[in-house]
Amino acid sequence: MSINIPKNSDFSIHNIPFGIFSTKNTMPRVGVAIGEHIIDLSALANIYNFNFDNSVFKQSTLNSFIALGKSVTNKVRTDIQAWLKDDNSILNKHPKLFIKQADAKMHLPVKITDYTDFYSSIEHATNVGKMFRDPENALLPNWRHLPVGYHGRASSIRVSGTDFHRPKGQTLNANSSQPVFGASQKIDFELEMGFITNKNTAIGDTVTIDNAEDCIFGMVLLNDWSARDIQKWEYVPLGPFLGKNFITHISPWVVTLEALEYFRVQGPKQTPKVLPYLEYKGQKNYDISLSVTLTPQHNQEQVICNSNFKYMYWNMAQQLAHHTVNGCNISVGDLYGSGTISGKDKNSFGSMLELAWAGTKPLKINDGSERIFINDNDTITLRGYAEKDDIRVGFGEVSAKLLPTK
Ligand code: CA
Repeated sequence: MSINIPKNSDFSIHNIPFGIFSTKNTMPRVGVAIGEHIIDLSALANIYNFNFDNSVFKQSTLNSFIALGKSVTNKVRTDIQAWLKDDNSILNKHPKLFIKQADAKMHLPVKITDYTDFYSSIEHATNVGKMFRDPENALLPNWRHLPVGYHGRASSIRVSGTDFHRPKGQTLNANSSQPVFGASQKIDFELEMGFITNKNTAIGDTVTIDNAEDCIFGMVLLNDWSARDIQKWEYVPLGPFLGKNFITHISPWVVTLEALEYFRVQGPKQTPKVLPYLEYKGQKNYDISLSVTLTPQHNQEQVICNSNFKYMYWNMAQQLAHHTVNGCNISVGDLYGSGTISGKDKNSFGSMLELAWAGTKPLKINDGSERIFINDNDTITLRGYAEKDDIRVGFGEVSAKLLPTK
């Protein structure tokens, strides 16, 4: 192999995730990550004839490529794996196809057509229910019967590294009946993963649970930033609105479901039994270790949460089957968020709301300060990887800094 892939790299030969990158004075285009490099598929398409429309690699989003379907996208991935292992392959004969990630800028990988966010971690939903409703009846009656979700905002989704300003809005202070306007005082992160679909369906069509995974191109890390004070005042009766839509971040590399195949695990037992359209066979959860770090300005990064995607109560196939059971159509480039991914342990809670238990248990920070929510100039970074038998498939990170209000 012409390039060195560091051991423990998220982007091992087993991964081959797709993304959109550019280098100085060049246009955004399609690449795959390998080790600390990117293979420029747009440049490869100039010297190699893929047996489909090669211009998909010159576009600034992955939509046209992933719309070709899994038979094509999987073959590109496995061909690249084979070429990397072959010293005489087209890749290894053309070292200029390899670009250092450090020299590249990453872009949003897909034009996101629609964005839906679920609420599928039973630990998260239970924690929120305990804090804000009834500790004895934390889950609402529908929760164990369907994957609850809401339609989010696609326009404000950004790639990792896009810093943003503390949002302003309307909130209601405690013991007051009059709302006030100003900067949110309760900015939170939500540790989530998202999946991206590769098919257009017609209104009236449904994606069955058995067909759902064929409609999922791959996954990313997702931070569903939330302004808890805005959210609390606005959310009844129609759910999240301005408390959520100011920005959502995703990681730049889309890891295919095929790269995650080796890491399938059984999901939690679902009780009561779900309706037939949500019944599934086999292992549909994935063992993906997740972490969140907080980095105060001029101070060291520290881990504040360790969780795992395998904790999800509702799996992606159930989410997509439920989303379309009424005939709602899906599109190439739709993004579906998992909902905050919390585990049972206190250090596995996927939001500040839960980690600091609605402000009652401040988090100790290494610089001597405390947090109940996110401070100005704090950076929050989500990371995720699957690892088994020396095979590692990772997501890299999604990271962003909260800047003071404009
Ligand atoms: Ca969320």
